[in-house]
Amino acid sequence: MSAHTLTITDAIYDYLLEHSLREPKVLEHLRETTQRIPQANMQISPEQGQFMALLVRLMGARRCLEVGTFTGYSSTVVALALPQEGRVLCLDVSAEYTRIARAAWHEAGVEDKIELRLAPARDTLAQLIESGEAGHFDFVFIDADKGNYTYYYEAALELLRSGGLIAVDNTLWDGRVADPGDTDEDTQAIRTFNDRVHNDERVDVSLVPIGDGLTLIRKQ
Ligand code: CA
Repeated sequence: MSAHTLTITDAIYDYLLEHSLREPKVLEHLRETTQRIPQANMQISPEQGQFMALLVRLMGARRCLEVGTFTGYSSTVVALALPQEGRVLCLDVSAEYTRIARAAWHEAGVEDKIELRLAPARDTLAQLIESGEAGHFDFVFIDADKGNYTYYYEAALELLRSGGLIAVDNTLWDGRVADPGDTDEDTQAIRTFNDRVHNDERVDVSLVPIGDGLTLIRKQ
């Protein structure tokens, strides 16, 4: 028993995976493929993917938005959790990484549920707001360049319906946010973002220590 979150040792982590993970073959395959590229650590962990799929199902989400798609693990896991009519709009700038994502969408049979827009996410988000999409999304996942987190958050909040959920990745940043000696630009951007959300009375918030820290934000 503990009054705070326990430290996850390798043994506990292995137990957690062995006794709760239900990863479809296509996602296992995608992890193997992604391991071969230099930026592999940008992929979310499988238990985090399963947690996000559970949230999406609990909410009965239909319209999802993803800022930062990389090789497609999160978009695939979310699309698989959506009903037939559910949709995921993916924003990314890398044709190279999203080529792997497209192959995974095809392999998982979810390509009809997913639309990819290859452009800077700030531009696409502004276009979505301009074209009247505000309040139309149920779920937004933010996992992109950290320097723009606060911008992405504000845009996502506008695009989200009341009661909708934003999940933001890497908010513990390998523990670096808690190291006062770490003055790296990305670390500072995440600290600024974390403090802004903490003090934002428009939302309910929980920073969940899963993966690299996943902040859940519900729009009131
Ligand atoms: Ca991430």
